[in-house]
Amino acid sequence: MKKIRRQRKHDLIARLGRHMDICLDTIRPRRIRTRSARYAAALAESLGLIERPRCCTWCRRRQRLQRHHWDYREPLNVTFLCPDCHAVADNMVVQAIA
Ligand SMILES: [Zn+2]
Repeated sequence: MKKIRRQRKHDLIARLGRHMDICLDTIRPRRIRTRSARYAAALAESLGLIERPRCCTWCRRRQRLQRHHWDYREPLNVTFLCPDCHAVADNMVVQAIA
C-alpha cells in the first residue's frame, strides 16, 4: 500500500473511532448519536470492516439495500435489508422498546 493511502486509511479509522465515541456519549442529543452511528457504519463499510451482501439478508431479493441498526449504541452491528424488510425490522425495534 502506498504511503498516502495508508495515511488516508489511518485517518478514516481515527474518524470512525471518534464517531463510535459520540454514539455512546449520552450527554449528546439522540439525533447526534444516531447520526454518528449511521456515519460510523458507512465509514466501516468503506474501510471493508463491514461487508455488504448482494441481496437482502432476510428475503434474498436483489434490491437497493439499507443498513439497519438494531441498537445505535452498537454502530457496527448492522443488518443489510431491502426497504420492505427494513420497515419490518424498524417496527420490531420500536415494539421491543415500548
Ligand atoms: Zn428484504
